Order: sequence, then structure tokens, then C-alpha cells
Amino acid sequence: MHTLSTEDKNILLQSIRNIPDFPKEGIIFKDISTLLSNSQAFQTLMNHLEKRYASYNLDYIAGIDARGFIFGAVLADRLGIGFVPIRKKGKLPFSTVSEKYALEYGEDEIEVHIDAFEYERKTKGAKVLLIDDLIATGGTAKAASHLIEKVGAECVEVCFIMELAFLHGRDAFDMPVYSVLVED
Ligand code: AMP
Repeated sequence: MHTLSTEDKNILLQSIRNIPDFPKEGIIFKDISTLLSNSQAFQTLMNHLEKRYASYNLDYIAGIDARGFIFGAVLADRLGIGFVPIRKKGKLPFSTVSEKYALEYGEDEIEVHIDAFEYERKTKGAKVLLIDDLIATGGTAKAASHLIEKVGAECVEVCFIMELAFLHGRDAFDMPVYSVLVED
């Protein structure tokens, strides 16, 4: 299992920008656009994820709308496997399966194509890694992991670039959760 050196961890931590009170007061928004535009940080991250997941024998990477698409698509290409987008409701053109989840106020809904994990294997039971940029309460990723299972695939691990550990989002999952960076 590949582990990230302290030096590499610091490169990543320093590349993420904290924006206080966005999108509303009291939230410190983790801006990963500054990680993406920093080629050293982006490559450090993707090299680490590629090494970690090379031995997992994955069939697909699923990424959550929208920042999960960036890391997920690059990782899928590096591993030579397919990428599946899990999208906000109403964006996918073919038949979908959907899942609602709670937000701080109200609820939201995400969807996946019903045949998303059958394209290359043509059978059920594909091994899928789910990825997003950040876990806060875990509600979004938990709903996404349900979608993967609903369409007959197996979510073998959920991966985040950053975890806000004080919100205990990882406790909601019954599969392994890996976060590259953890804020206590
Ligand atoms: P949650 O469902 O509470 O785990 O929220 C996760 C989703 O909201 C992810 O797609 C994140 O991109 C976004 N998010 C939540 N909190 C933050 C934050 N403090 N900084 C950046 N993104 C956030």
C-alpha cells in the first residue's frame, strides 16, 4: 500500500486555499482550484493515487459531480479503466437510477445511468472506486455509494482528497474510506 511522504503531504496541504465564509458565514471552503493549477501538487496527488490503486484490480472509477470528475477521470485514465460520472439530477440523458440525500436545509438528488458499470464487463459486479474532492458530513458520497450498489456494481472503497474529520462523515460508510489529507 503506497503512503504519502510528509513532504508530499505538505506540498498538497499548502496548495489548497482556505476561503472563510464561502458560500455562507461560518464555512471555511477548501478551494482545490489552486491545487489543480499547481502542476507539482496535481502530479504529486495523482502519482500517489495511481500507486495506491494500481493493485486494487478496479473496473471503474466513479466521480461525484463536479470536482470528483477531475480527479476521477485522470485516475481512470492512468489506471487504464473507465470513468463513470455521478451527476446532479436532470443532467444524464439515458435511463437513470437516482438517490435523494439530506442537505443542511432541504435535500438534493444525484443520478447514475442504469448501465454505467456494464459497458466493458457486460456483467454485474464490477469493482468500483468512488471519488470526490472532500468529505464533510458524508451525505453526498453515501448516496453515491448507494447508487453504485443499486445498479449492481460493488463500491470497494470511497476516496477523498480531503476529510473534515470533526464532522465524522466517514462513520456513515460500511466500506473502507480513504482520505489523502485529514483536517481534525
Ligand atoms: P457532504 O455531503 O456534507 O460530505 O459534502 C460534500 C460535498 O460538498 C462535496 O462535493 C464537497 O465538494 C462540498 N463541500 C462541503 N463542504 C465543503 C468545504 N468546507 N469546502 C469545500 N467543499 C465542500
